[in-house]
Amino acid sequence: MNKLLIVGTVAFDAIETPFGKTDKILGGAATYIGLSASFFKLQSAIVSVVGDDFPQEHLDLLKNKNIDISGIEVVKGGKTFFWSGRYHNDLNSRDTLETQLNVLADFNPIVPENFKDADVVMLGNLHPNIQIGVLDQMKQKPKLVVLDTMNFWMDCALEELKEVIKRVDVITINDEEARQLSGEYSLVKAAEVIQELGPKYVVIKKGEHGALLFHQNDVFFAPALPLKEVYDPTGAGDTFAGGFSGYITQSSNISFGNMKNAIIYGSNLASFCVEEFGTKRMQRLTREDVDARLQQFKMLTQFDIELSK
Ligand code: AMP
Repeated sequence: MNKLLIVGTVAFDAIETPFGKTDKILGGAATYIGLSASFFKLQSAIVSVVGDDFPQEHLDLLKNKNIDISGIEVVKGGKTFFWSGRYHNDLNSRDTLETQLNVLADFNPIVPENFKDADVVMLGNLHPNIQIGVLDQMKQKPKLVVLDTMNFWMDCALEELKEVIKRVDVITINDEEARQLSGEYSLVKAAEVIQELGPKYVVIKKGEHGALLFHQNDVFFAPALPLKEVYDPTGAGDTFAGGFSGYITQSSNISFGNMKNAIIYGSNLASFCVEEFGTKRMQRLTREDVDARLQQFKMLTQFDIELSK
């Protein structure tokens, strides 16, 4: 089986949406990526850090999804990364209320020996220096390196972020962040500017408005499934990234055509993530649920127009 190495936060989140409020619950970019990628036939491992305030049951949850957690360091006496956010009424935008780096501030990542030859590396959201630290430990060049990041790191570590961006094949980023990174309002121009920074493929996530994949002159659009209820969009971007990188790892095919399928898998998995608070929906998601919704995705986009010759 092919190997996927995941880096990112494993965290506590406190979330406010128009539908409710949670206290510290399980969150983190790597958590969502790992849960999402667990729907594919692959071997995966997470590299991250938590404090000893992090419950064993959360680590067991990841382990039970067949994720290798030997690269998650538990710092004695340390506090786990904490993020809190509040969503606006449209649920498409949010304000970060607080980010406490805690143990993440002095984390030196250690890639498990048996994942130094991973086929795909998914650099989830955390400090760009940690993402670089992971890439530097790889024994051989991975088939594909995917990067996900957010405005927080553009604001406080832009130069380091640009160093990682130079070294990745695919970047997944939301529309506002693409505009911030490129200085361009048009997403087409933004994608062009970002491709010049390094990644040959740029995925721009637009929340409930789907996702765009850019590669040179090619563009592909995947819709988001129109849902009756959205409770909490937290982790949707990471779940998307987990679906994208998980599918590519399983299929071992990094062509543009296959990336289109990866985007559909990512959108499909993300559509479940938002249906309940935190990781709840992803925890009890089944392969049957995933397959049934893929069929809905097909129906949503299939049409049969004859083009005049
Ligand atoms: P998403 O909604 O996909 O953007 O991801 C939300 C997750 O990212 C939450 O579970 C947070 O714990 C995590 N997160 C929030 N801010 C950061 C940050 N600055 N670095 C890394 N992870 C973060």
